[in-house]
Amino acid sequence: GAHVVIVGAGHGGGSAAAFLRQYGFEGPITLIGEEVIAPYQRPPLSKAWLKGEADADSLMLKPESFYPEHKIDLRLHQKALKIDRFAKTVALNSGQIVHYDKLILATGARARPLPAPGANLYGVMSLRNAMDAEMLKASLGKGKRLAVIGGGYIGLEAAASARYLGAEATVIEVMPRVLARVACEPLSQFFQAYHEAKGVKFELNVAVTAFEGENGRVTGVKLADGRTIPCDAALVGIGAIPNDELAQEAGLDCADGVVVDLNACTSDPDIYALGDVTRRPMPLYGREMRLESVANALEQAKQCAASIAGKPVAPPEVTWNWSDQYDLKLQLAGLAVDADEILVRGDPAAARFAIFHLKGDVIRAVEAVNAPPEFMAGKMLIASGKPISRERLADPSISMKEVAA
Ligand code: FAD
Repeated sequence: GAHVVIVGAGHGGGSAAAFLRQYGFEGPITLIGEEVIAPYQRPPLSKAWLKGEADADSLMLKPESFYPEHKIDLRLHQKALKIDRFAKTVALNSGQIVHYDKLILATGARARPLPAPGANLYGVMSLRNAMDAEMLKASLGKGKRLAVIGGGYIGLEAAASARYLGAEATVIEVMPRVLARVACEPLSQFFQAYHEAKGVKFELNVAVTAFEGENGRVTGVKLADGRTIPCDAALVGIGAIPNDELAQEAGLDCADGVVVDLNACTSDPDIYALGDVTRRPMPLYGREMRLESVANALEQAKQCAASIAGKPVAPPEVTWNWSDQYDLKLQLAGLAVDADEILVRGDPAAARFAIFHLKGDVIRAVEAVNAPPEFMAGKMLIASGKPISRERLADPSISMKEVAA
């Protein structure tokens, strides 16, 4: 049968191979990844794994035996260098040329570097893969001082894990609030206050200008206002850049990510792309965007696997994501892009509440803290677009089931 080649053996690439088999595709599958380990899950790298609560095995997407059992030719430690769309081949750094009938690009994203003097000092790091996580973990522990540059999810999760391990943590953020790109203001305030109560320090509204070091090792982070935050390690968590160079060089449509449709198909009908590397349609919100979430990678893995296997492609899902910090489980669904009002249900002081983003009487997004029913019902209502009563939604004594009824 047709030969499917998947470039990128991460969460999405590994899942696409598994879905192809699940959907009955019987042709050869080659899964090529530049990392040295089989596909694994990244979320725990800043959470349970970093805290020492999860072992390496629990990170793995599938057991090692899964790939041979399902006739998936997993080739690790091999980097794809070039796609030839006319010959339908992928050139690897090993010198091998692999022919494909259908190609899936699942190359993910990489940590955005901070172009500041001293950024290559030992102890200045980012957190994207298992090796990065090993490095970070080795530099945490009682009395160690971690400077976190960037108050996004990864930065805050790392700060929470550092505190759990007895390290000090200072979060430095150029915006006036943490989670500025990804959460609403009340949620930012809540998370900052929660972290402060756990001993995390914040430097907001200030840029990093340089890293200071001694004997090649980072000793501090220099701020634009002239101060230096002393540290033993500095984690740069300022976003990710899509690994779309292969696609760009092959002439595929790209715009900060490989442009795909709702079958995860690129501008070449024989090439699909999924996960963090894509810019995808968001029909519910009338826009295209790049998402960085497991749910998105899995959804697109299903889309391209179904397309290739000749199965119907499921309708688009509501985007969702989560973050674990201390004893807080944050769950988010939808996008707050066109909402005109926010409504808080529950009590932030009790660390159990949800923030709903409404457009008229329709829920467009929900941010739920330790509130799974609000998240679940919210996600369903986002999908259905069914109008709700705001008075009932705001009243926690009325169950979400009743609100949704
Ligand atoms: P990846 O999983 O990054 O896999 C891409 C793979 O392709 C990598 O192994 C890369 O090395 C390889 N590759 C790249 N270029 C080539 C090439 N040329 N040749 C061969 N191989 C190549 N998401 C959530 O939903 N919830 C969370 O709580 C959450 N927490 C996270 C915490 C951390 C620390 C990180 C880093 C991410 C987190 N994410 C979370 C995001 C989530 O992990 C990603 O959205 C998901 O991994 C995307 O899957 P992917 O397959 O697109 O990319």
